Amino acid sequence: MSNDNKIESYEGPGFMASKLDLLVGMARKNSLWPLPFATSCCGIEFMATMASHYDFGRFGCERLSFSPRQADMLMVMGTISKKMGPVLRQVYEQMAEPRWVLSVGACASTGGIFDTYSVLQGIDRIIPVDVYVPGCPPRPEQILDGVLQIQKLVENESLRRRESPEYKALMASYNIE
Ligand code: SF4
Repeated sequence: MSNDNKIESYEGPGFMASKLDLLVGMARKNSLWPLPFATSCCGIEFMATMASHYDFGRFGCERLSFSPRQADMLMVMGTISKKMGPVLRQVYEQMAEPRWVLSVGACASTGGIFDTYSVLQGIDRIIPVDVYVPGCPPRPEQILDGVLQIQKLVENESLRRRESPEYKALMASYNIE
């Protein structure tokens, strides 16, 4: 385990005491289960990220899930048409809390070059996004950096955040229960 995973603790011979929030944050951070929602070219960059050269598995999240119910990090990669929007939203809604969303590339984040009637101009119009990765396409290093940013959020998130009035208001603004 790298020093990045060292948490604030009180240690002595044969024991260690720390805060539950910190321990849960460390465990969650290092065991994210991504759901890749890849619709076009950014998905190819993700495939490169998974392959041996970039080795996504180094971050504890090589176990991809294609079932929303067994995933906690939704990675949206590619152009999302308005027709696809409801599908993406359903996938998000089927994920259990806590869940995080990474928007990869210009298309997922803003519609990219496709400023047309048929393309969603950013997935944050239908679901909340935690981290945006810029680029068209983003390189695998950028995707990895986005995942590291998600890990920072996960590590520092309070166990009570999902019950907070602010989080409930965020969900209500998207009309999600
Ligand atoms: S951001 Fe660029 S590379 Fe990614 S899906 Fe859109 S057009 Fe393709």
